[in-house]
Amino acid sequence: MTEILYSLTEEEIKREIDKTWMAIEEKVRKCQKCPLCESRTQSVFGEGAKNTELMFVGEGPGAEEDAQGLPFVGRAGQLLNQIFTAAGIKREEVYITNVVKCRPPQNRVPTIEECAACNDYLFAQISLVQPKILVTLGNTPTKWLLKTTHEGITQLRGKWFDWYGIKLMPMFHPSYLLRNQSRKVGSPRHLTWQDIQEVKAQWDKVRQTR
Ligand code: URA
Ligand code: SF4
Repeated sequence: MTEILYSLTEEEIKREIDKTWMAIEEKVRKCQKCPLCESRTQSVFGEGAKNTELMFVGEGPGAEEDAQGLPFVGRAGQLLNQIFTAAGIKREEVYITNVVKCRPPQNRVPTIEECAACNDYLFAQISLVQPKILVTLGNTPTKWLLKTTHEGITQLRGKWFDWYGIKLMPMFHPSYLLRNQSRKVGSPRHLTWQDIQEVKAQWDKVRQTR
């Protein structure tokens, strides 16, 4: 096996990785592993730079994402774009996906069973991107990946966790910020501004050492 790997050129390895991405994307497109497949318009795989150091994981598609087939393109997505821009992060330079790839009816929180059914796809994406920094947006991806049940996002946000050697930081979900408009010191928006700047600083650091 190793002999085979050693015999591949860099170009051939790239082609194999591309093929793997396409195979997973196709699986997600046709997936019927959980009941969310019944109500979706289409699944939302994820998008962005596949060789980035910085990856964002949200909860699941909303109405606009379900319609367009792209992550974070509705109101929460627009706010996420603004947060990126303010921090000097180009959206096309990071990878963005969700815990579940199909929209839960009425945007309800996905169940543990649905997260579990979809998990192989998320883990495959993380394994292929190999990010150095992972940001979880809101309670669902934070609790799912960190396997915590007692602490919520308010306690966990802004802290760095080691997740299988990847630096993981939970942040508030942009939808939560849409419901909390205050910009006062200590408000969710103010804290998020601090968090994204910390993420950007870490990203700059890991990019320098590449
Ligand atoms: N909220 C999410 O968690 N993910 C999206 O893609 C859009 C809204
Ligand atoms: Fe499959 Fe995930 Fe969609 Fe469920 S949410 S049908 S596991 S792609």
